[in-house]
Amino acid sequence: MATKPRIKYCEICKKDFSTMYRIQYEFTKKWIFACKECLLNLKKENPNYVYGGTWKK
Ligand SMILES: [Zn+2]
Repeated sequence: MATKPRIKYCEICKKDFSTMYRIQYEFTKKWIFACKECLLNLKKENPNYVYGGTWKK
């Protein structure tokens, strides 16, 4: 199986994290990766928030 380096950055704070969370937070239904801290901020009183899984390196 081919493995190429997959580096994900938090879409919000643009930092590299070893554990990322796949979420939707806008009405556009676009999936993004966010770190836990940003996830918690985006989640607050957000009716568009959808959790799609955890991604680990
Ligand atoms: Zn972040």
